[in-house]
Formats: sequence, C-alpha cells, structure tokens
Amino acid sequence: MEEPREPHVLVLPFPAQGHIKPMLCLAKLLAAAGLRVTFLNTHHNHRRILPRGPSSPPSSLLRLESISDGLPDDHPRSLERIEELLLSIKTAMKAALREFLVSKSAEPPVTCVIADGIMSIGIDVAEELSVPAISFRTFSACCLWTYFCIPTFIHEGKLPFPDDDLDKEFHGLLGAEGLLRRRDLPSICRSAIAINLYRYFMDETIAMTRACALILNTFDALEAPMLSHLATIFTDIYTIGPLHALAVKSHVGHFSGRSESVGSLQMEDRSCMVWLNSQASRSVVYVSFGSLVKITVDQLMEFWHGLVNCGRPFLWVLREDAILGENEEKARSLLSELKVVSERRRVVDWAPQEEVLAHAAVGGFLTHSGWNSTLEGIVAGIPMICWPRIADQQINSRWVSEVWKIGLDMKDTCDRSTVETMVRLLMDDKKEEIMKSMARISALSSDSVGPEGSSSKNLERLVKNIRKICQTS
Ligand code: UDP
Repeated sequence: MEEPREPHVLVLPFPAQGHIKPMLCLAKLLAAAGLRVTFLNTHHNHRRILPRGPSSPPSSLLRLESISDGLPDDHPRSLERIEELLLSIKTAMKAALREFLVSKSAEPPVTCVIADGIMSIGIDVAEELSVPAISFRTFSACCLWTYFCIPTFIHEGKLPFPDDDLDKEFHGLLGAEGLLRRRDLPSICRSAIAINLYRYFMDETIAMTRACALILNTFDALEAPMLSHLATIFTDIYTIGPLHALAVKSHVGHFSGRSESVGSLQMEDRSCMVWLNSQASRSVVYVSFGSLVKITVDQLMEFWHGLVNCGRPFLWVLREDAILGENEEKARSLLSELKVVSERRRVVDWAPQEEVLAHAAVGGFLTHSGWNSTLEGIVAGIPMICWPRIADQQINSRWVSEVWKIGLDMKDTCDRSTVETMVRLLMDDKKEEIMKSMARISALSSDSVGPEGSSSKNLERLVKNIRKICQTS
C-alpha cells in the first residue's frame, strides 16, 4: 500500500504588493494550521521582502522561495509597462515555475497549488503535473462577479459603451445591490483600456473556473448576494477575509508595533506613528493611493491645497515613484519640499498602513479603493473618501459609498474645492450617519474572524479540504 503523501501547498501570488500581502497572510495561516507551505515570490520581490525578515515568529512549515519573472533586474515593473510583465509571466515565468516544481527545491513534492486568480500559469502547470489547483482572487466578490458578467454585457450590446457618458446608469446582472453607473465597471470595460489587457484579464478570469475551489479575501456578511451569484460558477468557495485581521487573531500577523507588516515590499517610515501621537483624537486624514497608482503634479497640488484648506491635519503616503510624467529630478525635488515635517502635515514614502488606520488620531481615509485598503479601513472602522483609478477600485468605491454607506465617492474629480468639501462631509456634516454604518460593518468584520466566525470556520474547512485533496490527487 502507498504511503500517505504529506500535504505540501505551493502559494503563488501575482508579483505586486496588493497580491503578495494577503497571499502571505494565507500562507502563514495554513502553516500555523499544520500544513507544509512554500510561498513562491519572484526573485525581484523576494529580495525586497527578505532583508527585513519575517514579521512574526517563523514557522518551520513555511518556506519562502523565489523564481525569475523573466525580466531584467532594472525593469521598473510599473503599471505603464505591465504588458511586458504579463507576457513574461506567461512565458519565462511559467517555464521557471515548471522547473521549480519538478526540482529538488520543491521537496517534498508539492501536492496542491494555490494560484493567484490572475496567475493561471499556476493552474496550467498544476494540471500538467496532475496536482490539484485552488484559485485565490484577491479582488472583492462584487468585482469578480462583474467580470463574469462582462461576456453577457457584450452579447447584449451594452459593452463597449456607445458613448462616453460614464455617469449613465448601467443595468447589469448584479441584482438589487448592483445599481451601477458605467464608471463603476472594472476599468477593462472602458474603451481607453488596451484590448490586450482586456483579453488577458478576461482569460485569467475564465481560467479560474478550472480550479477545484475558490478562495476570496472577503467575508460572508459583507458580500452575501454577490457570493451567491459566484456560487453558481464555483461549487467550493472559501471566504476567509479580512485575512490581515484573521492573521492577527491567529497570532501570525503583524501588530507588535515594532516589526514590519506582513509582506511589505517597501521600508515603512515608522516616524509617522510618533507624529500621530501628537495629534488630537480622530482629527487626522490619512491619504494613500496604494502601491501602484500614480498622479500628475496638477492632481497632487489640487489634493494638497484641498487638504490644507479643509484645516485638518493629514498624513499622506507619496511613494518615490508616485508622480506621473515628470522628470525624476523635478519629481524628487517637489517631494522633498512636501516632506518637510510640520505640526499639521506629514508626508512619507510608505507607512505601516494597518497600524496607522488603527491609531486613535486617524478619523478619515482618502483612498484609491484598492481591495486591501478597503478591508483595512473596514477593520479599523475608519470611513473613506474614494478616488478610484483602475481595475476593481471603481466598483469597490461604489459599494463603499452606495451599498455599505461607509464612505463617499469622489469619482474622477480631484479639484481642491471637491477635496475640501469631501473631507468636511466625511469628518463633520455626514460623520454621524457614515460612522453608524461603519460601526455595523466593522463589527461584522470582527465577528467573521472570531473563534466562531464565518471566516475562521471557512479557513478550518479549507485546511481540511486541502488535506483531503492532497491524499486523493
Ligand atoms: N500599504 C502599506 N503602506 C502604505 C501604503 C499601502 O502598507 O504606505 C499597503 C496597504 O496596507 C495594502 C497594500 O499596501 O495592504 C495596498 O493594497 P491595495 O489592494 O489597497 O492597493 P494596490 O496597491 O494593490 O493598488
């Protein structure tokens, strides 16, 4: 009789901050539950995480490994050149993944692959090696369901839009909650988006259905209607979010106040925590547009003046590479001007965001509505002003403002008077009503990761199922 195989899970994230962080949380949780796990980054990102070391007690069951993404070291891997990265993932990185999985580096043999929902190379190679694959889409359920509706929208002639009016209502298949405008659809639906990107992300979405199960970083009480739509496509769904909160509850996440956050690719400037200590309770606006979004100098100045004019202290994350279309020297000199510390404002390259949001001085979050940031805002109970740019951000923003009613949507505008008005509405005029909804949603998120919560239970189910499929594969 054959020896039972030891379960060994390979976790394969898309090489970007917003994917690495939740997938590393998952890897840590699986290892804490007793599964052997290999987390496979690209060399490029592996080098960025490693020098700062693991942020919580290392587990002998979790290994951090890396393979090449096929691009030269000095490639910027930025949004503007994403097509080069995507092509390289499908070719060079896929070959490197196959080689890794059949090599001694993957010993004991990998018995289950958890592939990012936009890394179908993980499903392809798992199928070649007869290993079961699970898909983990790092988006919200509302966004993922919209992706699956896109072919029907096209078939019905609703897409591409016959004109450019993005504010027109869009009647889709999203049910009562999905009162959408065109602008709320994933950005691949906008005509300005390159057709290659549209095809790439649609193909990746269809490929996810070849996986034997789906993991989502959301929780049942937050997105129940969208999850029931998705259940018509995926028979086995595990909603285990907010993962960063589950990781904290399970003692594998960061929150010591001394170490780096889980999976942070950038060095965090912790001096902003000291600055926050000097601010009044719930007075500060925290501003961050995530790891990829860039802004023009004009937009930057409009935000800056709007924030100054509203008279509130603010803490703003402005990455070194955040300014669009400027020569490097000019951008650097502007940033260093803005970074001069003052009592009322603080600009940093990168902040410990989860901790910032949990700080008693923070009262509002001006965000690009990336899904991790949205969940982090919910867990911390901080209402949001949404300035969505790409991908799932527009639909997240719609849900934040119209379905959960925990924030305001700025749409595409960012003139100084709109910024000022939005901050005043969020933190004064509409504060009570928005905080009421936020308190409810935030409590639900906390319940979901409690000992009897849906996400905790779903994680236990996932671990059991992984053990089972590893035996039968
Ligand atoms: N983040 C951070 N420090 C910062 C800005 C962002 O740690 O100064 C983290 C944030 O906590 C979140 C991630 O970066 O987990 C960004 O992910 P999100 O999905 O919100 O946006 P993306 O970067 O993918 O656009």
